[in-house]
Amino acid sequence: MQLYSTNNKDLRVSFKEAVFNSLPADKGLYMPESIPELDPDFLRNLHTFSLPEIAFNVARNILNGDIPDSDLKKIIDDAINFDAPLVKLEKQVHVLELFHGPSLAFKDFGARFMSRVMSYFLEAGEKELNVLVATSGDTGGAVALGFLGVPNTTVTILYPKGKVSPIQELQLTTNGQNIRAVEIEGTFDDCQALVKQAFIDPDLKARFRLTSANSINISRLIPQTFYYFNAYAQLQRLGKHEVIFAVPSGNFGNIGAGFLAWKMGLPVRKFIAATNINDTVPVFLSSGVYQAKPSVQTFSNAMDVGDPSNWVRIMDLFKGDRSALKRFLTSYTFTDSETLNAIKEVFDKHQYIMCPHTAIAWLASKQWLNDNPGKNSDIIFLSTAHPCKFPDIFSEDLVAKIDVPSQVKELEGRAKFAVSLGKDFAGFKQYLLGS
Ligand SMILES: *Cc1c(COP(=O)(O)O)cnc(C)c1O
Repeated sequence: MQLYSTNNKDLRVSFKEAVFNSLPADKGLYMPESIPELDPDFLRNLHTFSLPEIAFNVARNILNGDIPDSDLKKIIDDAINFDAPLVKLEKQVHVLELFHGPSLAFKDFGARFMSRVMSYFLEAGEKELNVLVATSGDTGGAVALGFLGVPNTTVTILYPKGKVSPIQELQLTTNGQNIRAVEIEGTFDDCQALVKQAFIDPDLKARFRLTSANSINISRLIPQTFYYFNAYAQLQRLGKHEVIFAVPSGNFGNIGAGFLAWKMGLPVRKFIAATNINDTVPVFLSSGVYQAKPSVQTFSNAMDVGDPSNWVRIMDLFKGDRSALKRFLTSYTFTDSETLNAIKEVFDKHQYIMCPHTAIAWLASKQWLNDNPGKNSDIIFLSTAHPCKFPDIFSEDLVAKIDVPSQVKELEGRAKFAVSLGKDFAGFKQYLLGS
């Protein structure tokens, strides 16, 4: 697999280089030079394969020999070792539960695959690796648990102080070993800016082998395609074949992976991007003006992103053509109070508890059905995290009804450790150089 930069179509780097660089020097994003179309027989028969089998076949086609089959199979079986079940909620509406991994969020797919791919390439001759990651909550936990104990790696996680949930904070700050947490006086965008600047800083580049674990890393995007195929497999088992995906979106990595899956031949009718009031993309789709803005804090804090970093990838897939994109992508925006009402409504009707991010995707699914009466496509909305990660937003009686998985109970007694820093780059650089 060869990759180019969205800022330079003539650039070519190998998969390994893209994984370790994370970002090209020209500050674009890496994109696969060619996206393989999967065998139509495989797609028709998806329902006969398990999730790891689907994952292996998809990865093998896209990587195109970068990792030999037997090693790739080991990586997949180790990384994708939990389920992603489709649950029917109501007529035409299904929820894809992506929160059954160790950090209880869909980011486990990306982080677990990426850490094993990096470790694989390290074994093939690299030295010590420094992973820098900015998180608005869920990335950090997934990356920390994905890399914990992986030899020859140090992971530094930056998160906005006071803006992640207590369970998220425990997942970030109680690991020890090769994982360290830094709380930044600022927003997620400030954390992301620090990481981006570190990558282009000559002193830091001279001293460390820096890499990013953010959703901009191509090795996180690829494994997120797996569950789109696997969701379709589950729909086939119900005798259905027309699907629309509704994706709760922040940095637009998750939905970007969906677009990749579609490019590989998955027969998706449409995507729906569901955002909270950080509505840069919905505004762009309706007005044509992409205006990045500072992020605003909401209950769905993993989607509090004012300048979605993967958006350029989606524009790149559509060659910058907004009208072509709009035929295929609809977007909706919802407020915190709509989110809370949705959680309550779905619980009252179905005894099903959704996290606030998931609730926004449910709202978007319902809105689409409302706006398009008579259409009989099934909608799969993605549930990106387990509700127990966001206890503050639920009423007490709902909190009492959430089953807290054992992974979380174990964290509760542990000691928290994080370094506090401001949002200025000089201080962050000094911290990195001093360690
Ligand atoms: C990261 C995250 C999102 C947003 O995903 P993107 O790929 O950034 O669009 C949504 N929900 C949860 C729970 C998340 O952790």
